[in-house]
Amino acid sequence: MEQPISVTRSNFNDWMVPVFAPANFIPVRGEGSRIWDQENKEYIDFAGGIAVNALGHAHPVAVNALTEQAKKLWHVGNGYTNEPVLRLAKQLTENTFADKVFFCNSGAEANEAALKLARKVGLDSGVAGKSGIVAFNNAFHGRTLFTVSAGGQPKYSQDFAPLPNGINHVAFNDLEAAKAVINEQTCAVIVEPIQGEGGVIPADIEFLKGLRALCDQFGALLIFDEVQTGVGRTGALYAYMNSGVIPDVLTTAKALGGGFPVGAMLTTDKFAPHFSVGTHGTTYGGNPLASAVAGAVFEFINTPEVLEGVKHRYQYFLDALNALNAEHQIFEEIRGQGLLIGCELKAEYAGKAKDITTWAGEEGLLALIAGPNVVRFTPSLIIPEQDIDEGIARLKRALAKLAK
Ligand SMILES: *Cc1c(COP(=O)(O)O)cnc(C)c1O
Repeated sequence: MEQPISVTRSNFNDWMVPVFAPANFIPVRGEGSRIWDQENKEYIDFAGGIAVNALGHAHPVAVNALTEQAKKLWHVGNGYTNEPVLRLAKQLTENTFADKVFFCNSGAEANEAALKLARKVGLDSGVAGKSGIVAFNNAFHGRTLFTVSAGGQPKYSQDFAPLPNGINHVAFNDLEAAKAVINEQTCAVIVEPIQGEGGVIPADIEFLKGLRALCDQFGALLIFDEVQTGVGRTGALYAYMNSGVIPDVLTTAKALGGGFPVGAMLTTDKFAPHFSVGTHGTTYGGNPLASAVAGAVFEFINTPEVLEGVKHRYQYFLDALNALNAEHQIFEEIRGQGLLIGCELKAEYAGKAKDITTWAGEEGLLALIAGPNVVRFTPSLIIPEQDIDEGIARLKRALAKLAK
């Protein structure tokens, strides 16, 4: 066989549209929570592909599901349904509040579907002008024009004006502010149970309960964006299960495919019929390959052992981070739930989160940021304790560079 052409990190700058600034090494192989780059240098993976690689890398359950399905049927188009997608829909509806599922390929597409569904339900209600969407400052819902407009970070949307209108942003965790803008013209409220990209900030349970009550009062859909918090990330199958607040629509992606692109919008029999034949669609959504992998990943994660294991690892991680912080006094607060952990830097280190992840890379650790002041960890849900220990040791060496 011919050798593949050799490529280097500098080729990224040669050939790629520069929306990303990737690290200066190229990962080529992974196993569990470890990754190796082109030079065969090893890294501990505390990033998990941004809360995606829930079973780590090359897990046999996911590899088998993918390769078995790859030999059978990849794609037929939505003029035909297929067995893996029906099995996955059964799993998702049997294990959540939902009765119906729409499949797509990413978190943004799942949210796009949710927001479009809400607009359609609003239209069908017959209430004039029922198209208003309430969203929150600092939220992140994806990069399509609609979802980036619903997101609460103007720096991601303002360059693409004119934006879809009718979206109102208020402060997160401020129920009074939400109350002031939710009314008869509101068709949806969209919220993350834990703001991920926005800095790993959990929603207060009273806030979510209040939003639920306001949505009931004014006939608006409550949409939980669980793209980051879903599929075991918080130690519950979905984060809404921790709060007891049940949404009308839930979006899920990231960990759902364990690294294979897939997304889904879950809803109830009350709202699903508003998306009648032809009102929305997708070419790849619900394809057999993605559905087979997601089905296997979901089945593996949705067990008491794995979900309890996430809670156990959270405590283990937290203890290690607190011990590190007691020594070095770098983090103002360490917060999150399950294996979605954010470490907010003390004021004197403000703006240094990106530098810390760069130094972590030098020390052989993959880590994330969530804004300029928060270092974020979203590792595999089954990361071994010894990999946590080794990763923390490497983090400690990276943090030593900050002190200098
Ligand atoms: C990552 C993320 C998205 C966007 O998902 P993509 O797959 O990148 O489109 C949406 N919402 C939340 C909460 C996310 O974390």
